[in-house]
Amino acid sequence: MQPFNYKKVGQADNAVALVAPDAAASYLAGGTSLIDLMKLNVQTPTELVDINTLPLAKIEMQGNGVRIGAMARNSDVAYDAIIQKRYPVLSEALLSGASPQLRNMATVGGNLLQRTRCYYFRDTAFPCNKRVPGSGCPAIEGYNRIHAILGGSDRCIATHPSDMAVAMVALDAVVQTRGPNGERSIPLVDFHLVPGNTPEKETVLQHGELIVAVDLPASPFAARSHYLKVRDRASYAFAMTSVAAALDMQNAVYHATGKRIRDLPITLDKLL
Ligand SMILES: Cc1cc2nc3c(=O)[nH]c(=O)nc-3n(C[C@H](O)[C@H](O)[C@H](O)COP(=O)(O)OP(=O)(O)OC[C@H]3O[C@@H](n4cnc5c(N)ncnc54)[C@H](O)[C@@H]3O)c2cc1C
Ligand code: SF4
Repeated sequence: MQPFNYKKVGQADNAVALVAPDAAASYLAGGTSLIDLMKLNVQTPTELVDINTLPLAKIEMQGNGVRIGAMARNSDVAYDAIIQKRYPVLSEALLSGASPQLRNMATVGGNLLQRTRCYYFRDTAFPCNKRVPGSGCPAIEGYNRIHAILGGSDRCIATHPSDMAVAMVALDAVVQTRGPNGERSIPLVDFHLVPGNTPEKETVLQHGELIVAVDLPASPFAARSHYLKVRDRASYAFAMTSVAAALDMQNAVYHATGKRIRDLPITLDKLL
């Protein structure tokens, strides 16, 4: 593992000021993705800025919606009473991921920015256009059961592995960031990029832009929502594919069930 410097910061602005000007600097949240990849020499930051003491872990009502701090742990979000009642699809998606120990460490910001589980990406013995642009994509002709069905390119067919993100897209979540150029609100549906010709570029974030929160708007359908994950094992496995679905039901006397579906947003994993 490459040596690195470590700093802990207490304020978001200080964190941004340390990471933004230094291409070799990286935020450290729960560390469950980044530290693994550092041990594998896939990611090699020389400066780690620990953001665990930033006051960004609250889950609170904001207007009629909910704001989830970027440092809220996956388990705290999954078991939060408001989330379980108003956004069950999000709670189910989080609880379908990883293990209880990992969910206790993993944060919302880190979950959105975890890297692909493509086997070739994680093994430096293989070429990989995402890790080393222009080196090739062995997954296209190789072992690709967990890769994209739609949305891939001739450069890369990797998917983003987050269960949480699939549910949040169905809920019209908006990512709030703070960077060297100020604050931004980014709809999650626009946040991750398809591989195209630049698979090394995975999101619309600038280097050093800090995720501070994710907002879930009030929603007529979120309370009737469900997450379905298909995987090789019943637990502790990444998705082969998954679906987040929600129903907006409107009372109507003329339908056999007494209700009519007004809206049915569905988000499918594996489309990128
Ligand atoms: C064995 C195993 C099984 C897993 N299974 C699943 C699964 O089934 N489903 C699933 O969805 N996930 C799964 N995961 C992934 C897990 O959910 C992620 O590792 C975790 O969510 C990452 O969060 P973290 O806080 O630990 O991020 P870190 O590892 O600390 O950071 C990840 C990346 O995000 C950046 N970052 C972190 N926070 C911020 C922020 N606020 N602003 C800007 N950048 C930031 C870091 O710089 C880093 O690049 C699994 C992980 C492991 C190790
Ligand atoms: S699918 Fe993407 S991440 Fe995997 S080997 Fe190909 S270029 Fe690399």
